[in-house]
Amino acid sequence: MTTIPTGWKCKQEVIDIKYFLASSTKSIFIGLPHIHGVAWINRKWLENFGIHGNLIDYPEETVKLVDMVMSCSLSNGSEMLNKIVSEVQIHHHTKSCRKYGTKCRFGFPKLPSKKTILAKPLPTEMDEDEKKQKLKQCTGILEKAFEILESPDVDENMSIVDFIAKLQITEEEYYDT
Ligand SMILES: [Zn+2]
Repeated sequence: MTTIPTGWKCKQEVIDIKYFLASSTKSIFIGLPHIHGVAWINRKWLENFGIHGNLIDYPEETVKLVDMVMSCSLSNGSEMLNKIVSEVQIHHHTKSCRKYGTKCRFGFPKLPSKKTILAKPLPTEMDEDEKKQKLKQCTGILEKAFEILESPDVDENMSIVDFIAKLQITEEEYYDT
């Protein structure tokens, strides 16, 4: 799917976005123009939002913040925008993707998600064997997930509920993975 900011709901004094257009001749994006951007967020505003320090220490508030300023959709209420998004914001593999192996070097496909999730490492106090077991379990689920997504006859309109059902796991297990 695509990720585009479809509308910054905050005033510029709250969030300031700096970006530049790049088209490197040395990076993996040779020839492809792309945007690098950084958002500076006013600390006072973050405090009103319930964030009084580093975002990493306020996971729930951070998810709300991300949801407030970011969205992705192929149904934006503008036919022209939908068309542009469909044409330029969906990855289609090319020969270049698998230049160095069997997997797409740009990391596609991405796993679908209907909500914002923050990835975090396993708890440090978790037993090593338990960690290995968890990793093995997650690897199995992810392999199956990518197998479905990479299948040539994958239904691109498949709902996330159907996708998770194909994995034969619960929604909670999917997001936990
Ligand atoms: Zn690719």
